[in-house]
Amino acid sequence: MKIKNVCDVCKNKRRKVKIYRVGFDGATVGVELCSEHAAPLEQMLKIGERLNTTTPKVKVWSLEDIEAEKRRQKRKQPPA
Ligand SMILES: [Zn+2]
Repeated sequence: MKIKNVCDVCKNKRRKVKIYRVGFDGATVGVELCSEHAAPLEQMLKIGERLNTTTPKVKVWSLEDIEAEKRRQKRKQPPA
């Protein structure tokens, strides 16, 4: 994205802007927003859960883990 330092909504050059990255459905966009137009986003930043994009939460399963999980699953099943 090109940094314009102007709010993308009101285009008011006298307002200070912050750059936000908004992602949904695999797409991420950058927007520059003044404090008024960033308010809904700021609210979401407060209620949302921070995602760590650099280290995805993927559990690496070793063979031992898989075998242990299989045993655990078997134990849970009621006896036939
Ligand atoms: Zn604005």
